[in-house]
Amino acid sequence: MDKIIHIPGFNLKVTRRLIVDLSLHFVVTLFIALSLLFFSQKTSWLVMAFIGGILIDTDHFIDYFLHLDRWNLLSFLHGHFVVSRKLYLVFHAWEIVFVLTALSLWWSFLAPLAIAMAGHLLIDTLMHARYSPLCYFLLYRWKHQFSFDKFNYYLFERQIKSLKQAGLIQEEKEKDIRTSEDQDENLIT
Ligand SMILES: [Zn+2]
Repeated sequence: MDKIIHIPGFNLKVTRRLIVDLSLHFVVTLFIALSLLFFSQKTSWLVMAFIGGILIDTDHFIDYFLHLDRWNLLSFLHGHFVVSRKLYLVFHAWEIVFVLTALSLWWSFLAPLAIAMAGHLLIDTLMHARYSPLCYFLLYRWKHQFSFDKFNYYLFERQIKSLKQAGLIQEEKEKDIRTSEDQDENLIT
């Protein structure tokens, strides 16, 4: 269960990437939330936009605790749990955006949630899924058994490389990961 191997320090490249990622999500969500407040004149729309644009990332905690049974901030920030290869990201799903959009025809307060979630997923696609743009569809990940190395091999490889550079994963663990079957299957060029 416990797959934390050794954490001597942290990888600056990963930390920098994380800061850029979070800042971008914050700025875009703030822009969407303020625009929606301006048009709707409802504070609740501002709050819903923040839930959709920022709190969507809380599903990373679910993935973390599915693979690791004790909390370690560095391990979490480095996405160390990717060595398990399984990634569910239950809230990162265009399907949820579509359902919320449909429901917002009856319950309008769901509209800001759907708009902000769409903004978040768009950034994630541009930043992390240029080579597998479908990977933020839950059905697409399901089709690939939620195997990170299958539904977004480029990002998986980059993450493993960063972990290796930082000395966060052992050599034999890396060898084990590289022997993954069908690893090029979904690499769109
Ligand atoms: Zn995200």
